[in-house]
Amino acid sequence: MPKPADKPQGLIDPFGRHISYVRLSLTDKCNFRCFYCMPKGFRDFEEPENWLTFDEIERVMRAFAGLGVSRIRMTGGEPLVRKNLPELAQRLTALPGVQDLSVSTNAALLENHAQALAEAGVSRINVSLDSLRSERFADITGGGSLQTVINGLLAAKKAGLRPIKINMVALQGINDDEFVDMVNFCLQHEFTLRFIEAMPVGVSGRDASSHYMDLAQVRTELEQHFDLSPGVMPGGGPARYLRVGGSDLNIGFITPISQHFCETCNRVRLSVDGTLYLCLGQENRFELRPLLRQGIRDDELQAVLRKALALKPERHDFNENPERIVRIMSMTGG
Ligand code: SF4
Repeated sequence: MPKPADKPQGLIDPFGRHISYVRLSLTDKCNFRCFYCMPKGFRDFEEPENWLTFDEIERVMRAFAGLGVSRIRMTGGEPLVRKNLPELAQRLTALPGVQDLSVSTNAALLENHAQALAEAGVSRINVSLDSLRSERFADITGGGSLQTVINGLLAAKKAGLRPIKINMVALQGINDDEFVDMVNFCLQHEFTLRFIEAMPVGVSGRDASSHYMDLAQVRTELEQHFDLSPGVMPGGGPARYLRVGGSDLNIGFITPISQHFCETCNRVRLSVDGTLYLCLGQENRFELRPLLRQGIRDDELQAVLRKALALKPERHDFNENPERIVRIMSMTGG
């Protein structure tokens, strides 16, 4: 009787954390210029010939899935600016072991892509939305149109993508008078809302951390308007959720600065050029593209991924070194 194949050991990092989730950046380009992410006039994009091809992406993700990775999130820059995304989505959802494929997007192009992504197997989306006021939205995003984002959200809803999560970066002195409005907007549309603390991942000067707000302040303000109680949301993300009384709305709080969640980290990031970033807040990385283009075999690729994981740091040091800008967010896709 042949011995059943050993269940993949899974990817365990030096701190005993099981890595089951890869954030996959498909481009460092974006059709917005959010001031806390990509500076206006930024031109230092990766050359397309250095972008991993869909075949290379599929090989790496197959290797990861064979090591127990079950969740993939397609990010960017703005992933919807990469051509033929539904084709890649179909190939990724067909990989053995992949149980969940999602997208993080600014939704400006979503109206034309939502149906095709849903049909290709994308189950859910996260949309960045920091304001419901057109002028302020344009100011934050460097000229973005709020209406196109709203149209994209409604198209995603119509296509059956669920849950639809709204990510709002809490920005002192910029959108801190809109938190209640955003809760009501999500109540009206049955979206899940997550507030995110600004991280020092961006350009010096006017980056997000100069508008940093501890989310405890946001919670205190919301408790004056809503009956909030502990809530839960499926999915292995870092958000801590509260439920709005008398509704199905969950509000998530993502607190990388005031209450980091590194002890339960379950992710790594693959950038558009094939660089494996082991942590959002550190420089620890491993270059996969040269090996892929030198013809590495699949079994060797898995061994390399295990080796790379040994580089994963315990946590970020945003608090200890707030001035040390690692790289801009669009390079690793948040
Ligand atoms: S900062 Fe690094 S260690 Fe902490 S949760 Fe993010 S990726 Fe994981």
